[in-house]
Amino acid sequence: MASRIIPVDTFDLVVFGGTGDLAQRKILPALFKRFCAGQMPRGSRLIGAARTTMDAAAYRDFVRGALSEFGGEAALDRSAVDAFCEKLTYVAIDARGDQGWDTLSGMMVPDRVCAFYYSVGPGLFSDLSQRLHRHGLVHANTRIVVEKPFGHDLDSARALNRELSQHFEESQIYRIDHYLGKETVQNLMVVRFGNMLFEPLWNAQYIDHVQITVAETVGVRGRGEYYENAGAMRDMMQNHLMQLLCLTAMEPPAMFEPDAVRDEKLKVIRALDVVQPHHIVRGQYTAADGHSSYREDVDNPRSKTESFIALKCHLNNWRWAGTPFYLRTGKRLKERDSEITVVFKDTPHSIFGPEAGRHRNELTIQLQPDEGITLGVTIKEPGPGGMRLIDVPLDMSFAEALGPDADSPDAYERLIMDVIRGNQTLFMRNDEVEAAWAWTDPIIRGWEARGDAPKPYDSFSAGPDDAAMLMRRDGREWRGMKH
Ligand code: NAD
Repeated sequence: MASRIIPVDTFDLVVFGGTGDLAQRKILPALFKRFCAGQMPRGSRLIGAARTTMDAAAYRDFVRGALSEFGGEAALDRSAVDAFCEKLTYVAIDARGDQGWDTLSGMMVPDRVCAFYYSVGPGLFSDLSQRLHRHGLVHANTRIVVEKPFGHDLDSARALNRELSQHFEESQIYRIDHYLGKETVQNLMVVRFGNMLFEPLWNAQYIDHVQITVAETVGVRGRGEYYENAGAMRDMMQNHLMQLLCLTAMEPPAMFEPDAVRDEKLKVIRALDVVQPHHIVRGQYTAADGHSSYREDVDNPRSKTESFIALKCHLNNWRWAGTPFYLRTGKRLKERDSEITVVFKDTPHSIFGPEAGRHRNELTIQLQPDEGITLGVTIKEPGPGGMRLIDVPLDMSFAEALGPDADSPDAYERLIMDVIRGNQTLFMRNDEVEAAWAWTDPIIRGWEARGDAPKPYDSFSAGPDDAAMLMRRDGREWRGMKH
């Protein structure tokens, strides 16, 4: 089932950091796939901009290499790759100096939609913004795409917001969280607000608890320096898990429209209660099976940075009072598993007698490794001899329901096209980011003040046992990755 392609205006996408890891693995393949889908109109360009000195021909070769590694099946079509490369050019530029800026301004087409993608370290966001402004590259159709991390804490996020606001309107700033570009995450909103079935039950009266897991099997090698200063709380919880929590818990916005959606998400973050220290479990992976430990990966034998975090939090509002949200994320875990599970309450009374047990429904929104939604329902176990009840999944794997050719674009494809269209619905607003830091900061400051060290856990386990205890104390257990 091919998706309907919505045309976009001719555009330029300038990728600062166009030779970096993110550009190679995500941005370039994403734009190539949109090109193949007919969404890069004649005259549109991708301009790579990075410090390395090279000409356009060398950059095209570089991009061919990136596409052959990360472009999937579409990149096997040599003529498509050649046609895409025709649209590429390159400028060697220094974000901190003068090199390349006049060349870049000379390439610009007045008033054309132009997105500047900041795919460079966060230390350069401010330099880039100042130079874009100084060289006259900012006009009404200019947009900037800002990668994570957006700040290190509340103060730095505020300072960055202030700096960006000196050069751009808020409507020009696209703070990217690629989790919001995932099809299933958007489907969560459609399931909630496009069906009558769920929303009337979507509250503390019917929902026992919600759990969100983002588990990775990879460690931090290669990103050690950044991660050691961030940890799981800043790297994942403050942004990705917080966004998933927002979409799960928010009130229905009046319209699927940027500020309406972001207003509702903001209310969720602001309703978050202070997390009690005994409701937080931090962990750090140890060596196993020939794999190095976290401390070896970051080259710091005394590191107190967490590579795992699990916590229980509450929302102080009418809809959710009394329903806990359990969030956990970590690296070097035994499964790659990202999911949101909404666990409904037990039926209040069993007409089938005590042997049949009490049953509950669960709705699981699976983001990784495969995307899909499963509703657990209780049915009669087939066969004679009384009423035995079993729980079975009503599966909606997208590949099965929509056919094998169903388009499931990568999150970056969707998000880059939203930038070009000027649609900010799936991007974070300044106040959202600050509110998330305002919730995160006191937790981190508490660890620092107490000198808390994370609990060691075996690589390729489910994390520290205390994370299982966080649930068991409440008579619950983690779905997905089990302890
Ligand atoms: P990288 O180190 O691989 O690439 C950095 C790029 O910036 C290179 O192209 C380099 O030439 C360019 N650069 C460095 N200094 C420059 C300067 N003074 N002027 C102009 N260009 C300069 O980094 P990356 O992994 O691609 O990450 C880029 C950004 O994306 C970072 O903010 C990172 O936090 C974020 N990010 C990366 C990933 C990922 O998977 N790599 C995921 C999420 C977010």
